Amino acid sequence: MIDTADIDARQQALAVQIADRRDDLIALTQDLIRIPTLNPPGECYRDICEYLARRMGSSGFEVKLLRAEGTPGDSQQHPRWNMIARREGGRSGPCVHFNSHIDVVETGAGWSFDPFGGEISDGKIYGRGACDMKGGLAASIIAAEAFVALWPDFPGAIEISGTADEETGGYGGVAWLAEQGYFSPERVQHVIIPEPLNKDRICLGHRGVMWAEIKTHGRIAHGSMPFLGDCAVRHMGAVIGEMERTLFPSLKQKRTAMPVVPDGARQSTMNINSLHGGQAEPDPDFTGFPSACVPDQARMVIDRRYLIEESADEVREEVIALLERVKSERPGFRYDFDELWQVSPTMTPADAPVVKAVERGIRAALGCEPLHVVSPGTYDQKHIDRIGRLKDCIAYGPGILDLAHQPDEYVGIDDMVDSAKVMAFALDDLLHGR
Ligand SMILES: [Zn+2]
Repeated sequence: MIDTADIDARQQALAVQIADRRDDLIALTQDLIRIPTLNPPGECYRDICEYLARRMGSSGFEVKLLRAEGTPGDSQQHPRWNMIARREGGRSGPCVHFNSHIDVVETGAGWSFDPFGGEISDGKIYGRGACDMKGGLAASIIAAEAFVALWPDFPGAIEISGTADEETGGYGGVAWLAEQGYFSPERVQHVIIPEPLNKDRICLGHRGVMWAEIKTHGRIAHGSMPFLGDCAVRHMGAVIGEMERTLFPSLKQKRTAMPVVPDGARQSTMNINSLHGGQAEPDPDFTGFPSACVPDQARMVIDRRYLIEESADEVREEVIALLERVKSERPGFRYDFDELWQVSPTMTPADAPVVKAVERGIRAALGCEPLHVVSPGTYDQKHIDRIGRLKDCIAYGPGILDLAHQPDEYVGIDDMVDSAKVMAFALDDLLHGR
């Protein structure tokens, strides 16, 4: 039997604890924003990990700083540091892990606030990384501290991690930690990634990705006599023409049962990431003219996002079949196809324990019905699923996804407080049970 009076009392106690920590939550978020962890190249990872280690250490967590040596981008100048904090309870039980990436993307132009100032205006904290995802990291720390303050002898364990390189694939962060066993089902049972998905939404996973390079080949000749050469750019034009005729319309027809947001991403999509043919773009300091040549090579990079209903093999073969069609119709057409990167789609079942716990937390803390979503792009859940083999994982956190990577990025203070409550309620649910 579920003793709801007990649960209500515990949630009330947690809500009071979190309300009391509002100023602390604001200061913590500001401190994190003021450490400019730009990636690339991976600045200040050690600084933010040391900051987090001091914070978690003083809250009774056992802290490890781990450098992902030899991973992409790791160097003496820009070492890939990660922080994992673990607090054992007084009795045995499951481990709940909150994983946040510590890196932020470049600031770009168009800011009206200092991107690393952590300024407050109108109930919002501004800065690069405010919503993606230092606000979520701060909210998870406050949730964990509030919970531990009330029940220091709780059953199980709580972990908080701050990890490197999510914005560049996560290879020096979660992927590496998963390889070291930090995300194995033996060590951790439930994972919440506080990415900015809005405080009333639970993100179950993400679509798949395939990046590939297509090259077309031609033959160089004098530009005044193009008939003596073979233009690789015209061959690439034929590839784009075939994509417009057949591939893009067929991708549009492939709808998914995954609840992807926004709605435009609830289908297969492809972006032409880059296209280049012929002479290299001139050095901006060079004031002369180009020489007259027929391009002998063109190169395109495609970024194909695929659905749980599709397989990587199908996605690959669809593009190769298209190239073969062009080849059968165009004399002299030669191409190379190289896959650059592939990530499988992942989606945690809607009835998984962590989903149910956060759902109940949203209902209790916010009084609204939670929404299940799937992210159009990938995030570190891919490594937790594929390398860690840990399936009970979602993204849940404060902030508006559309603001990520934009100028004047911000996180709402009330939203952080609300989602800290939801996280604390989920901790109570998963560790104390019902
Ligand atoms: Zn993020």
